[in-house]
Amino acid sequence: MPDPETWLRSTPKGLFCEPGNFTIDPTSAVDYAVVTHGHGDHARPGNAHVLATPGTIAIMRARFGGEAGKNLQPMAYGESVKLGDVKVRFGPAGHILGSAQAVLEYQGTRVVVSGDYKRRADPTCPPFEVVPCDLFITEATFGLPIFRHPSDRGEIRRLLASIALFPERTHLIGAYVLGKAQRLLALLRREGWDRPIWLHGALPGLTEVYRQQGCDFGELRPATEADAAQMKGEIVLAPPSAIHDRWSRRMGEPIHAVASGWMSVRARARQAGAELPLVISDHADWDELTQTIRDVGAPKLWVTHGNEEALLHYATSLGIEAKALSLIGYEDEE
Ligand SMILES: [Zn+2]
Ligand SMILES: [Zn+2]
Repeated sequence: MPDPETWLRSTPKGLFCEPGNFTIDPTSAVDYAVVTHGHGDHARPGNAHVLATPGTIAIMRARFGGEAGKNLQPMAYGESVKLGDVKVRFGPAGHILGSAQAVLEYQGTRVVVSGDYKRRADPTCPPFEVVPCDLFITEATFGLPIFRHPSDRGEIRRLLASIALFPERTHLIGAYVLGKAQRLLALLRREGWDRPIWLHGALPGLTEVYRQQGCDFGELRPATEADAAQMKGEIVLAPPSAIHDRWSRRMGEPIHAVASGWMSVRARARQAGAELPLVISDHADWDELTQTIRDVGAPKLWVTHGNEEALLHYATSLGIEAKALSLIGYEDEE
C-alpha cells in the first residue's frame, strides 16, 4: 500500500491528489476541483471542472452564477467516479446542505477528507457518515477541550424563553447566511415557532436554494418591508455583521442575539454585540472531534486547519500518527 504522503500533498492551493490530478477545496482556481461544501473558503469561483454534490452545486450556482465553474459535475452521496487512478465518492458530513466528506481510494488505501463537519443531527442535511479509513484528514475549528457545544434544542428554548419574557421587543438574530440561518429556521419550526420569520435581504437567495432542495421553513417575510409596530415580539434573522446596522433601527430596541459556536467565548459574544449569545455550531466540538477520530479508526491523522495542538496530542496518545497541515485560506465561517 502506497503511503498517502506519496500521492496526496498540501500545496498553496489546497490538498492535491497526484494520481487523480485534482485539488480538494482549492483556494484559487484549478483545472479540476473536488469541492466538499458551499462555504466561501471551500467553494470558490473560476475552476474549469467541479465535482460536488447536487446541493453544493446549487449553492455555487446561486453564489457565483456563470463563474461557478465551466463544467459542474454533480455526484450524489454514495455514487462514485474514477478520476485518473483514484476512486472518489462523497459521504455526508452533516455540516450544511450538500456538505460532503471526500472518500478517496487508491491502490488499496482509503483516505477520508472530512471537510467541515459535525456529528449532531441537523434537520437541513443528512447525518455524518463514519467511514473507516487508513488516513483521516480532519478540520479542528473547535479543537480544544474547552469547546463543548450545548444541545441546539436547549439554545432555541432559551431564545423562545427570552421572547416570552420580552413580548414587546424584536429578537434580531445574527446567523451566518449559508447553513446557520437555514438551520435556525428549521430548529425554530421544530420547537413550534409558527409565526412568520423575517429575513434580512442577504438571506432569501440561499434560503430559496434550501427550499428547492426540499427544506420547508414555513412562512418567511422580508424584514425590509416591516415597521416597528409589526415587528414587536417577532424574530428577524440577519448576517452577524448586520445586526447593529442602521436598518435595524426600524425595530425599535431589538434584543441582539448571535448564533455561533464561538458564542461560548465571552469576549467573542461581547465583540459581536450579542446580549443573547446562542451557542449553535455547524462544526464539531471537542467531544465530536475526538469521538470521530476513534470511530474512523485510522492509524494516521492529518489536521487541515483550526486549533490543531490539543487534537494532535490527543491522537498521539491513542497511538495515532498525527500531523498538522496548517492549510492557509480556510476560515472559521461560524
Ligand atoms: Zn464550512
Ligand atoms: Zn471551513
